[in-house]
Amino acid sequence: MPEGRSVLVTGADRGIGRAIAEAFVAAGDRVVGTYRTGRPEDVPEGAVAVRADVTDTTSVDAAFSRAEELHGPVEVLVANAGVTRDALLMRATDDDFSTVLDTNLGGAHRCARRAAKGMVRLKRGRIVLIGSVVGLYGSPGQASYAASKAALVGLARALTRELGGRGITTNVVAPGYISTAMTDALPQAQQEAYQDAIPASRFGAAEEVAGAVVFLASDAAGYISGAVVPVDGGLGMGH
Ligand code: NDP
Repeated sequence: MPEGRSVLVTGADRGIGRAIAEAFVAAGDRVVGTYRTGRPEDVPEGAVAVRADVTDTTSVDAAFSRAEELHGPVEVLVANAGVTRDALLMRATDDDFSTVLDTNLGGAHRCARRAAKGMVRLKRGRIVLIGSVVGLYGSPGQASYAASKAALVGLARALTRELGGRGITTNVVAPGYISTAMTDALPQAQQEAYQDAIPASRFGAAEEVAGAVVFLASDAAGYISGAVVPVDGGLGMGH
């Protein structure tokens, strides 16, 4: 992969996505970071903020077109945007289930499909999907979220088989409990219970997730595809 690559990170105005965009900027890449309801100025300095809703194909297409105009075909896609609508199964609504699946899985699929157009022509590319430890570990009250994140593993593996011969790798990075707005919103008792269960005895930092993503996007990771790379302090024991 050449220096100064064209990188697109979704949901880059806060949390993990912001740290990922920052890490690519620091590595000298040309980065578009998308935001949706937030503020463009929250996308890190050095990255170009472009609005995109990953549940909307036209919006995704427009964001990629803008990235292409600015930086050339996207060589690295990080599908990070995600939501939770937690509820115990009996109380879960169809609307919430659809929103979670359409954002976390549908959004990754839309972005990967749009990114693949340019990557296939270039005969190189890196697709990194941000999953979650709960995709393979499970979590009560998070059936929709866990299902959406588990499905990303199937998506990454199908894309690996479909696109692997074109120099394109697709992997999942599965964070554990990372200190962001998403985990700050968990009830205190649940936060403490998770902390006890994590072998590292602490929550992770967004920068630790960014490190794994930047590695998977690097030349050094050119022969890694279809993998799930956990960044979870050991919680998922490698899954
Ligand atoms: P945040 O809630 O802090 O940020 C999520 C980002 O995704 C926001 O920019 C949000 O924009 C964006 N987003 C949500 N829906 C859409 C949409 N339809 N279109 C475009 N952008 C959208 O989350 P985190 O930083 O904590 O998480 C980032 C990713 O990491 C997610 O995929 C999450 O599931 C995953 N993850 C997080 C963990 C954690 O501990 N924090 C653990 C495991 C996985 P908006 O402000 O408009 O909603």
